[in-house]
Amino acid sequence: MKNVTEIFSENVFNDEVMKSRLPKNVYKNFMNTVTNGDTLDMTTADIVANTIKEWAIEKGATHYTHWFQPLTGSTAEKHDSFIAPAPNGMAIMEFSGKALVKGEPDASSFPSGGLRQTSSARGYTAWDPTSYCFVKEGSLYIPTVFLSYTGETLDKKTPLLRSMDALSRTAVEFLKLFGNEKVTRVTSTVGAEQEYFLIDKKMYDQREDLILTGRTLFGAKPPKGQELDDQYFANLRPRIAAYMADLDEELWKLGIYSKTKHNEVAPAQHEMAPIFTTSNLGTDQNELAMEVMEKVALKHGLVCLLHEKPFEGVNGSGKHNNWSMATNDGQNLLDPGDTPMENLQFLTILCALIKGIDEYADLMRISAASAGNDHRLGADEAPPAIVSMFLGEELDAVLKAIEEDTVFKTETQTFEIGVNALPSFPKDSTDRNRTSPFAFTGNRFEFRMVGSSDNIACPNALLNTIVSEELSQFTEILAPFKGTDGFENEVKKLLKSVLKKHRRIIFNGDGYSLEWIQEAKRRGLPNYPSTVDCMPHYTDEKNMRIFKKFGIYTENELKARTEVLLETYSKTIRIEARTMIEMTRKQLLPATLEYIHCLCEAVAVKKQIGISSFTEEKMAERLSDLADALYDSANNLEIQVNTACEIGDILPQSRYFHDNVLAEMERMRTTSDTIERIMPSSHWPIPDYSQMIYNV
Ligand code: ADP
Ligand code: MG
Repeated sequence: MKNVTEIFSENVFNDEVMKSRLPKNVYKNFMNTVTNGDTLDMTTADIVANTIKEWAIEKGATHYTHWFQPLTGSTAEKHDSFIAPAPNGMAIMEFSGKALVKGEPDASSFPSGGLRQTSSARGYTAWDPTSYCFVKEGSLYIPTVFLSYTGETLDKKTPLLRSMDALSRTAVEFLKLFGNEKVTRVTSTVGAEQEYFLIDKKMYDQREDLILTGRTLFGAKPPKGQELDDQYFANLRPRIAAYMADLDEELWKLGIYSKTKHNEVAPAQHEMAPIFTTSNLGTDQNELAMEVMEKVALKHGLVCLLHEKPFEGVNGSGKHNNWSMATNDGQNLLDPGDTPMENLQFLTILCALIKGIDEYADLMRISAASAGNDHRLGADEAPPAIVSMFLGEELDAVLKAIEEDTVFKTETQTFEIGVNALPSFPKDSTDRNRTSPFAFTGNRFEFRMVGSSDNIACPNALLNTIVSEELSQFTEILAPFKGTDGFENEVKKLLKSVLKKHRRIIFNGDGYSLEWIQEAKRRGLPNYPSTVDCMPHYTDEKNMRIFKKFGIYTENELKARTEVLLETYSKTIRIEARTMIEMTRKQLLPATLEYIHCLCEAVAVKKQIGISSFTEEKMAERLSDLADALYDSANNLEIQVNTACEIGDILPQSRYFHDNVLAEMERMRTTSDTIERIMPSSHWPIPDYSQMIYNV
């Protein structure tokens, strides 16, 4: 392994490189753009472009690309070389400020939810200077946002950036109430723990379902699952260790602070957690990390599966979205602090979150909605589809004391809000509730619903918007009392009323239990088990109001996003269903029939020589019945898919996919898995679960 501090960020045009390479005044102008959102003048842009180009060429780049995150869910790039003709038939390497700042990919094939007529298919990419450029595989990557010419957002990053601005504005005002007059910028931060599976490429290549859909659509449960918990934090097998070491090196070179690596609960499941950073950089880095994870795996003869539920019956993968807010003078706003005033501020922010998550629980659910994640939420060890918050016993007791106007007592300290400093919280992980979708973990919240393949821009954009709304409401209520003797009392009054009304969102019990579903219902908390159930609420009036208020989405943009999400949902299930039909007809059914044939031949031969063929006959009979059922199921599924495709409107269509197509897929799988359990491995045409998850 090379010296980590030397290779770290070697392919990133970061602050350090900028400072050393850009003329002082250019650097200053540029930083003003980054921190205050000032517009970049063309002269500065030209100089920056030229400097980036020189640096990128030194790093081996011949091309540049505007890198963006369209609504497809992956990243997009189109490469142009720096090359330009020189008069003598030679070439020079050229890169202008204009090319850095703006790009015009022919973007007609990206989903826009009807925002952009394909005939006038013009979208443009605009440089996001708050995220770093980097060099990878011979190209300079320029992080950009993607907009239509009429200014509508066509990507995942723009709403996030807008929400970060809104949060900064509202939080700065809010903090002033608590005497924090010097803070000029508040940034949301994120550390996304990334879960993934690794399987052997040779196995993967034999599974059309994994290749086309990222998850196994068939497969009987292996005799051993995760019940022994012997994989979690287990020592790393050599191939996995080699992969992780390689991955770390590649991530570090790209300036990603990959920090933690370990085996996860399910067999073949692992995790990578980076050190947190700003939400926009964290989002870009997570997208990049997923790409690198997949590529490095191939070098090791492995395939990295980022799907939320690649294997039924074992844990799925998520992306724990650790979220907080940091001020430009270095405070973490979810850190309880040491003084009564800091505590008061912390508790007020906490109550803003409690109120926000309760009022906008539907948005949090929507932020994690996808066909893949639906298989995970509420299954095995994933958080349930019901949004609730976990605060831990001690903090909960503090809030109870506020709500009930009593004092909070520990063995050593009596705590009264505004007078004493809060007793310190155990930040120990043993205290954590792993079943909660939104858990306080000492100095941040961990939102655990997000799916492993999801882009984290959306959950963070929605969270930022919700918090902006609550902080601005609080500011409005408390501003008249700023600096007065009555301020603390007003805060107490506010917190008390918020807690009374929104305490229902706090749940410290077992989120996986059936009782919780009942209890949540009694509390009136929304429960949207599937994407189809939650998506229509995106455009609910209360949601539309805050998106408009903070300029995150227009009504059109929101409708378009709902449509794209539901379309993707329907298409995903359609592809899965068709893959199942194809695998059944081309592989599973022929294999079954062939084996039945073998059995029948054996029966005939055995009859001739007069020995018992009891087993063969029984097996042939049972398999024939199952083959008939599988055959019928494939035909039925085909009819269901075709019916679904004929439905014109997207909501009823996705509903049909959910209610009818998915249901038939499940029936089909049950039949096929039963056949798999009877068939000898020598005749089963695809690798089974044991081979896939216990083989690396
Ligand atoms: P665990 O698995 O025990 O929850 P990890 O160490 O795997 O913990 O992941 C915790 C994640 O939370 C890391 O990515 C870490 O950088 C991130 N984190 C820590 N502090 C903050 C913060 N203030 N804001 C956002 N993320 C944070
Ligand atoms: Mg972790």
